[in-house]
Amino acid sequence: MTTPAALSPTLYPLGDGIGSVALVQHVGDDKMIVNAARVSFGGDSDAPLNDRDEKLIRYLLRHHHGSPFEHNLITFKIVCPIFVDRQAVRHRVGVSKNEVSARYVEVQERNFTPPSFRKQAPSNRQASVEDDGTLNQAAAAAVWAEAWRQAFRAYHDLLRLGVTREQARGVLPLSLYTESYYTFNVRSLLHFLSLRDHEGAQYETRLYARAMAELAEPLFPVTFREWRALHSEP
Ligand SMILES: Cc1cc2nc3c(=O)[nH]c(=O)nc-3n(C[C@H](O)[C@H](O)[C@H](O)COP(=O)(O)OP(=O)(O)OC[C@H]3O[C@@H](n4cnc5c(N)ncnc54)[C@H](O)[C@@H]3O)c2cc1C
Repeated sequence: MTTPAALSPTLYPLGDGIGSVALVQHVGDDKMIVNAARVSFGGDSDAPLNDRDEKLIRYLLRHHHGSPFEHNLITFKIVCPIFVDRQAVRHRVGVSKNEVSARYVEVQERNFTPPSFRKQAPSNRQASVEDDGTLNQAAAAAVWAEAWRQAFRAYHDLLRLGVTREQARGVLPLSLYTESYYTFNVRSLLHFLSLRDHEGAQYETRLYARAMAELAEPLFPVTFREWRALHSEP
């Protein structure tokens, strides 16, 4: 079930019209998960999903029977800042990725600029908190813009001097946008979402995780409903 890229449902998690998640294709549905589980006792069928099937999906999720969720695939085209991508690539199992090569192509002038800057969290050394009004937003935005301007100019200066693309890209910052095809199976996607749409995860990465869930949920509605119910339990 492939959707031409131009027709793919596309979400813009960062609200800047550049960062995006598009659904490229998917394979399977909730029934496939049930059939994969039931084949072990010859109980797979073409019948529409029924209440017993829904109960089975709930049971599989609750008892960590993960393999029946591995037969379904979802491919996203993701345009995200390198710092978001760097977190996504840590997910090694059940995830395939192909990314634009800045050795092959000259990078486009696409830079993520935060709409507002956050402060370092006082208790969690990795996390951030909203600005309490003490952060000079305008000054931070000016520093960010100037850093990007200088970096991108340096990149082009190096190319003009004849330096190869694979070296010139070394001066570009983590806010540079990159783009990839990511394919997850449903098990690996749920694992990704539980770690990356979590209060401990970076805010921008959470926005990407939520966009991915929004696109995947209608394809596997029972699985997502039961997974959300499980995760909202105290
Ligand atoms: C909030 C947050 C902060 C983080 N901070 C850091 C950080 O500061 N530095 C850093 O380096 N990383 C950091 N990470 C990345 C984190 O350590 C994981 O690499 C990442 O979340 C992927 O999770 P995973 O290994 O469970 O997923 P996957 O790689 O997809 O693996 C899925 C599952 O397969 C099993 N598995 C995979 N590989 C192995 C293996 N080699 N041996 C045994 N079992 C395996 C595990 O059960 C694992 O949960 C952070 C992640 C989060 C969510």
